[in-house]
Amino acid sequence: MPSKPAKFQIVWLQGITCNGNTHSFLNDPLLGSLLDKVRFLYHPILPSQMSLRELVVKIPKSDLLIVEGAYRGDFERGGAVMEKLLPALAARAKNIVALGSCASFGGIFKEASPESISGIVYDKSEATGPLAAMREKVINLGGCPAHPEWLSFVIGMMLNKRKVALDELGRPKELYAYTVHNGCLRNDYFEWKVDSRSFGTKEGCLYYEQGCQGPFTHGSCNKILWNGVASKTRAGTPCFGCTEPTFPKTDLFRTKTYMSIPSEMPLGVPKRSYLALAGAAKSFHIKRLEERLIDDHS
Ligand code: SF4
Ligand code: SF4
Repeated sequence: MPSKPAKFQIVWLQGITCNGNTHSFLNDPLLGSLLDKVRFLYHPILPSQMSLRELVVKIPKSDLLIVEGAYRGDFERGGAVMEKLLPALAARAKNIVALGSCASFGGIFKEASPESISGIVYDKSEATGPLAAMREKVINLGGCPAHPEWLSFVIGMMLNKRKVALDELGRPKELYAYTVHNGCLRNDYFEWKVDSRSFGTKEGCLYYEQGCQGPFTHGSCNKILWNGVASKTRAGTPCFGCTEPTFPKTDLFRTKTYMSIPSEMPLGVPKRSYLALAGAAKSFHIKRLEERLIDDHS
């Protein structure tokens, strides 16, 4: 009788983390069918073959090493320091995913100790992390947290032996080639320069006064919706750019302006062209866009 094909073996290692990416992954609607095809040698929450202590002692081979959380050399897991544990597991893994902004670029935890904390390949956007020499086999899934379907997309590609095309920061182009602005339902308002009046409403663009970073943040949040139904901008909250190495910025919900012109332009748009278009668009008054769509008080 032909033997069953071996399951795809995954090790999920946590650095310095809030567990946000683990929790995000547990919301993946495809998790059940994915678990039929893969086996966790180690995962902090899901059933797995080894305990953390066994993982650290045995350093098993794997098809995929997923790293969640930021890197600091002297941080310990299972009694082993990351400085030794991470390169040892990485050397025995066929593929590596840096899951979330902390593992990808340092993220929020880097703010506490900028000198000693980084991502596993990138320190912000500099490739100086501990696995920089192995960057060819590392895929970065920036996001705070990363969308669960971004991870299952990458695992699915690996299961089907398909190559994942990456951008200059090692992020899958399929997921990060577009900006969050692309697919946002507020584009009509953006084009005609109609601003949102407050958080949580359906009308207006959140760029001009509320600091939305959708026009310069790479991510598919408005295409692969969260929980299948929403995104920040759909819910009336500005995107704060969590997929980028620049995250976290300060003053998240304010648009910095210079003489009332936004200081950061949408990606690829020269300031001069923007000003010409903005001036023309502002001179129109489009009743449809200036009215409430939904009256909360009726
Ligand atoms: S709310 Fe943000 S993402 Fe949506 S159109 Fe305005 S700037 Fe773009
Ligand atoms: S909408 Fe922006 S802040 Fe929210 S998850 Fe997507 S990239 Fe991150």
